[in-house]
Amino acid sequence: MSMAREDIVKNLKSIVGDNKIYTDLPTLQESSRDRFLKYTGAHGIYVAPLASAVVKAESVEDVVKVLKFANEHSLNVVPRSGGTATEGGLECGVVDSIVLDCASMNKIIKIDPYNMQATVQAGVVLETLEEDLRKMGLTTGHSPQSKPQAQLGGLVATRSIGQFSTLYGGIEDMLVGVEAVFPDGRIARIKNVPRRAAGPDLRHIMMGNEGTLCVITEVTVKLFKYMPENNKYYGYLVDDFATSVEILREVIVSGYRPSVSRSYSEEDARQHFAHFHKGKSIVIFVAEGPKGITEAMGDAIEEIVAKYPKTEQVDSKLIETWFSDLCWGEDKIAKEKADMVATKMCGFTVEVSAEWSKIPQLYTNAISRVKKDFPRIKDVTMLGAHSSHSYQNGTNLYFVFDYKVECTPEEELATYHYPIHSLIIEETVKIGGSMAHHHGVGKYRTEWIEEEHGSSYFMLEVLKKAFDPKGIMNVNTLYKPKK
Ligand SMILES: Cc1cc2nc3c(=O)[nH]c(=O)nc-3n(C[C@H](O)[C@H](O)[C@H](O)COP(=O)(O)OP(=O)(O)OC[C@H]3O[C@@H](n4cnc5c(N)ncnc54)[C@H](O)[C@@H]3O)c2cc1C
Repeated sequence: MSMAREDIVKNLKSIVGDNKIYTDLPTLQESSRDRFLKYTGAHGIYVAPLASAVVKAESVEDVVKVLKFANEHSLNVVPRSGGTATEGGLECGVVDSIVLDCASMNKIIKIDPYNMQATVQAGVVLETLEEDLRKMGLTTGHSPQSKPQAQLGGLVATRSIGQFSTLYGGIEDMLVGVEAVFPDGRIARIKNVPRRAAGPDLRHIMMGNEGTLCVITEVTVKLFKYMPENNKYYGYLVDDFATSVEILREVIVSGYRPSVSRSYSEEDARQHFAHFHKGKSIVIFVAEGPKGITEAMGDAIEEIVAKYPKTEQVDSKLIETWFSDLCWGEDKIAKEKADMVATKMCGFTVEVSAEWSKIPQLYTNAISRVKKDFPRIKDVTMLGAHSSHSYQNGTNLYFVFDYKVECTPEEELATYHYPIHSLIIEETVKIGGSMAHHHGVGKYRTEWIEEEHGSSYFMLEVLKKAFDPKGIMNVNTLYKPKK
């Protein structure tokens, strides 16, 4: 950093006004990390470099001013929206970074039920938008489990995906238009059109940039009719995970698009469906949409599952009830924090993807690799996976692992979390899958970013050089760390 902390703060105050600058220690500490460091955070230990200030931007003009200032003085900027990042994207890569918080830019600008699109500022919480929409019989179709807290800017910046993705797609299928500010202060707006063939799709430069190229300030997403009264829920116990993934595949490749299609390994099913899993794998579907479609889709799901003789259908109410409590608001996060401190138990996830043909092998390889090569395997109390987002050519695997922390909180990351995470990622890239299905790369998967992109990695580097030549945007995120 080329400027003293007090001068950074003084300048920021004069640029955007005292009332938008936060420098108290608790705010700086909480704003300098994310859930990758949740275990130390729960113990009140902050190991990431501390930010100099948090700027709560209230307008695009504020964002422009802060970026121009940071760019001129080569100060690192960490853009932030809902603060639910899981892979270190919010961690300050260097001390005295400026956290540029978009949460106060929270206006719903326009809901347009005729053209079926809604335009919002980056800091609008998805659940807030959904609540307004549902009163009008509409939905975005986006439902990540972080919906009560995640905001539209962050959801676009990470290429997020929701629980109803098989029907509505990921954020890349929902995003219509977008506005973003680049480090030199230029504002780029991409207009709302249904489709165009006017060169490469520029939305994809902003989408998934994880705060490394620009700050997203406004987002327009598609809208759909909200018809939960037509939903049909299906759940089946299946002898093994490979067969339940095969059932998923058959439903999808046969052309059906249930909004939810999930399959749980036996271990993962045990923790999610404790009262009815019977030690088996579970496959779940929700048919959603107009009545005629959900009925036809429900019949097709039953017909396909019937071809697998050893399946047992569970009461649809159990699945419906389970779904109604899947999202994570502040209450669940606070409980998890208290539990981690009280029990020394900790759990993390790694979400990856691969073609259908690679999924059973990837699952076996990753699980057996962790069992073989993770030295503290005796402390691992659960290791499993589920598939929660499926496509015509493949699906994701969401690996889940819990362990008892038998070291100091400061040692937890290096002793447990990072080694297990790394083994799963190594197995994924080895088999030719993607190491990041929907949480982004953050700061903890950058080690494999070249392997992930192979011969196209240079294109990512060219984007960085072109849009952030001074390298002030979220250093050490998405791109390989600076030497
Ligand atoms: C309990 C829980 C459940 C989750 N479930 C899901 C899920 O189902 N699906 C899913 O996809 N993800 C999920 N996540 C991950 C997380 O919610 C998503 O990555 C989400 O998109 C982050 O949005 P946010 O507003 O919280 O962004 P933040 O956490 O604030 O930021 C995320 C990243 O984007 C950058 N960024 C933030 N705002 C901007 C901006 N305006 N412009 C440019 N860059 C920006 C940040 O620098 C950071 O790198 C979950 C997280 C938690 C904690």
